[in-house]
Amino acid sequence: MYIINKMKNTIFLMEKNELINFVNETLIKEYGIPERAKNKPDPLDLLIATILSQNTNDNNSYKAYLNLKSKINSFKDIIDMPIEELETLIKTAGLTKQKAKTIKKFMLFLSEKYNKFDLNFINNFTDDEIINFLVQNEGIGVKTASCVLMFSLYRDICPVDTHVHRIVNRVGIVNTKTPDKSFYILNIDFPKGIAHSFHTNLIKHGRKICRPKNPFCNDCVLKNICNFELKNSLKKTKNNEERILLLDKI
Ligand code: SF4
Repeated sequence: MYIINKMKNTIFLMEKNELINFVNETLIKEYGIPERAKNKPDPLDLLIATILSQNTNDNNSYKAYLNLKSKINSFKDIIDMPIEELETLIKTAGLTKQKAKTIKKFMLFLSEKYNKFDLNFINNFTDDEIINFLVQNEGIGVKTASCVLMFSLYRDICPVDTHVHRIVNRVGIVNTKTPDKSFYILNIDFPKGIAHSFHTNLIKHGRKICRPKNPFCNDCVLKNICNFELKNSLKKTKNNEERILLLDKI
C-alpha cells in the first residue's frame, strides 16, 4: 500500500497493519489511551446496550439501558412483559418499536434454544462463530455483534461504525463502500491489543475533527498520511461537546 507523505514530498510503502499501528499511536498521542470499563462487561448486558445504542446518541441510549435494568430483576422478565411496556422502558433510546422487538425476540431465542438468559457460553466460540451466532437474529448486525466481541470479550476485533468506516477509508487503510465491507477487510489479522484504543479514538476523531462534511483537516494529526482528496482548509474554532462513550460504561 502506498502512502504519500506530502510534508516531506516522499512516497513510502506501508502494510495495512503498519498503517493501523501508526494511526493508533498518532491518535493516542492526541487523545490518550481510552479508559475501559472497570469490570469486563457481561456479554448479554453489552449486547442489549449496543442494540439500544443503534442510531441514537450515547447519552439517550445509556438512560434507556439504565432504566430498563432498574425495572427488571433479570432479562427473563422481558419474556412475559407486554411489548408496549418494554417500549416505554427504553423510549429515550428512540426507534423503540424496532429495538423492543429485537430485544424481546432475542430473549425468546435464548429461552427456547438454551433455556437460559446468559451469553457467557459464547466465550468458547471463535470470532466468526460469535458473529454468525448473533447475526442470525433479526435486528442484530455485524457492528452490534462485533461490539460484543471487543467490549465484552476483549477480542482483537475492531467494530466499524460510520466514523470508523469514514476515517479508515480516508486515510487509505481500506477502500470500501460500506461499513460491513470495511469491517471484514480491516479485521483481517488485526494487530493484537489495540482494537479498543483504535476504535474509540477514531470515534473521538470522527466527532471532533474528521467530520462527514467539512472535516477540520488543518487541525488533523493524520493529515500528512491522509489520502482524502477533498481536503479543505477549515480550522476548528471551538471544541465539540464531550460526550460519553456508552459501551465503556456497561
Ligand atoms: S486530513 Fe482531513 S480527511 Fe484526512 S483524516 Fe484528517 S480530517 Fe479526516
